[in-house]
Amino acid sequence: MILQNWWFTTLLGIKDPIQPPLQKDIKADILIVGAGAAGLSAAYSLMNKGVKVVLIEKNICGGSSSGKSAGFLTPDSELELSQLIRRYGKADAADLWGVATKGVEMMVAHITRHNINCDFQVQDCLFLGNGESGWEDIQEEMKARKMLGFAQTLYDRNEVKKIIGSESYSGGVRYPDTYGVNALLYSQGMKKILLENGIEIYEASEVLSVHEHRAETHLGSVTADQIIFCADKLHSSVTQLADSIYHAQTFLSISEPLSESMIEKIFPAGRFQCWDSDLVYSYYRLTGDNRILLGGGDMLTTFSVNDVNSSRVIDAVIEKFRKKFPLLSDLKFIQYWPGRIDTTRDLIPTIVREEAKPWIHFVLGCVGLPWATFCGDFAARHAYDDKGCTDHHYYEYFRADRHFFIPLWMEKFLGKRIVFSLNNGWAKYYQKETPDDAGAKAYRS
Ligand SMILES: Cc1cc2nc3c(=O)[nH]c(=O)nc-3n(C[C@H](O)[C@H](O)[C@H](O)COP(=O)(O)OP(=O)(O)OC[C@H]3O[C@@H](n4cnc5c(N)ncnc54)[C@H](O)[C@@H]3O)c2cc1C
Repeated sequence: MILQNWWFTTLLGIKDPIQPPLQKDIKADILIVGAGAAGLSAAYSLMNKGVKVVLIEKNICGGSSSGKSAGFLTPDSELELSQLIRRYGKADAADLWGVATKGVEMMVAHITRHNINCDFQVQDCLFLGNGESGWEDIQEEMKARKMLGFAQTLYDRNEVKKIIGSESYSGGVRYPDTYGVNALLYSQGMKKILLENGIEIYEASEVLSVHEHRAETHLGSVTADQIIFCADKLHSSVTQLADSIYHAQTFLSISEPLSESMIEKIFPAGRFQCWDSDLVYSYYRLTGDNRILLGGGDMLTTFSVNDVNSSRVIDAVIEKFRKKFPLLSDLKFIQYWPGRIDTTRDLIPTIVREEAKPWIHFVLGCVGLPWATFCGDFAARHAYDDKGCTDHHYYEYFRADRHFFIPLWMEKFLGKRIVFSLNNGWAKYYQKETPDDAGAKAYRS
């Protein structure tokens, strides 16, 4: 297996894959730093508004997490609906689920409106249970979805075998309105639309520092009225908020194409996008050219400080997958790649305007393309016309000083990895907002 992001391989034939770097000092009304799903969405929402917008990206558009991702477009990311309901209560959980749902809808609208060529697939979700505890997880999710009036279908052990070609799962829940994309081609497609609509984009340009309204790169600078950071893996010299961002590592691999007859056997009832109920879960779906895209990780490398490039982890994920699907025991996986996702301690994004410098906005730690898409758009709308917006309450969910189980200063004693794991586990499995914590409720009342 070759260590290479498959989506970069699919980019090889693209026309004009790179915009030249910034090499001069320029002015703008709004500068966006970072062109992943969040930054692209921010720029899109400012298109044709009569303001000069500049987008600066240190790699290529989509060159970090967004363009490495598996491209599952679903509101379900790391936080399941049942976990949101436990933490926030029914009304606020629905509000937050709506954030991710809106993010999915926005991406689909961009793709269909502009005909973006990004291997767009309509793929229902299938959340699959492993063992008894997995079956309980599935029923829990089913209950949560019913509570909010969503559509889904539950399958027990016998029924699930009829819709997925494996004997290994204890059940599953399926739901619609979810999609698969090649998120690097999506990002490059968005770049083209933005350029056509007057947004200036500079790739291979890293913002190294910001002094008041001026952001400096190696070869130039942008002086802007408003600056929106949608950047990942930021250095604390740019903002102290960087210290509160963590990284979770996952791995992906891609197979050779499957024959149509094999697809019939593995996905007899439709080309689902699937993941299982394990703590470090496996996930897979079919690409448009019939390859299996398979991802997963392990406990040891999830919180690694640097990318782990060895194939050891993904080899184990593939082995587990083959055991679940003996029919695919000879299927070859040809490329694999790691990716570290920026996240906060409770998996909810952080969106803030600096108190002392309210023209600087940060969108950080968005886990999932839909969350990033919503959050980028949100920050841009507020940077452009805060008074005209009616959704300020989201700032309260996403504030940087919300309640965490273990505060940051404990890192000195416990280390970053332990603080992250404890906070993360707490937020996922135990945390409940108290009236004091429930910022959004307080804001609305
Ligand atoms: C392997 C993998 C699989 C995943 N699978 C899925 C999935 O199936 N579905 C899903 O919804 N999510 C998935 N994710 C998560 C998802 O990719 C991210 O949560 C999402 O892309 C975050 O988007 P973003 O715009 O916030 O960040 P990013 O995509 O990381 O974008 C930030 C951008 O900022 C740029 N940047 C950073 N610093 C600077 C600077 N100083 N100057 C200029 N530019 C800068 C970076 O180069 C980058 O392009 C996956 C992630 C990985 C790694």
